Amino acid sequence: MIFRLPKWLHNARFVFFSLREEAMSELDKILAYNASFVDAEQYAAYQTNKYPERKLAILSCMDTRIVELIYAALGVKNGDVKMIRNAGAVVSHPWGSVMRSLLVAVLELRVEEIMVIAHFDCGMRGLTAQAMLDAAQARGIPADRIETLRHAGIDLDGWFTGFDNVEQSVRHTVNMIRHHPLMPSNVVVHGLVIHPSTGKLTLIEKGMRDE
Ligand SMILES: [Zn+2]
Repeated sequence: MIFRLPKWLHNARFVFFSLREEAMSELDKILAYNASFVDAEQYAAYQTNKYPERKLAILSCMDTRIVELIYAALGVKNGDVKMIRNAGAVVSHPWGSVMRSLLVAVLELRVEEIMVIAHFDCGMRGLTAQAMLDAAQARGIPADRIETLRHAGIDLDGWFTGFDNVEQSVRHTVNMIRHHPLMPSNVVVHGLVIHPSTGKLTLIEKGMRDE
């Protein structure tokens, strides 16, 4: 007797293995590229030290369009700046990891100037908690788990909400950094918005050196 898998299971296996192959192939490609990069000593062009040459830290967005564009448009290179990126270029909490990274940059790594550089057409603009929670449920997160989190006092709605206006968001983040109780007052904090196609910068807030 020939054992046959039911059709739905056969299809499900196919989807599972093809997804797995795809996930593997990106890693394989990167590992293969990396081996040749190291062998060819291509790293030599990037060698520098941990202290940023320009004494500058940048908080920007994780958007794919500005991954390299931001370096090119600002004229900075490897070794020049401490770069911190998240969704939206925001400090959403004074005691979160973004603020800690900025403080490490200032207190340990000789940074004297900080630029918050958000961008136009950011995915965080108009993001609503409901849309994110609906997407989580569509990906198999049960509704009762979300309710449990709410009952536990987690402000999912506040945490998941993006911003309506990018300039306002930049101003808010600049103020959070400037007025952080552990941020030295002589650190200059600026706020800008970058265009994700042209790299053009718009100045929103210019920090002044507090002599
Ligand atoms: Zn963005």
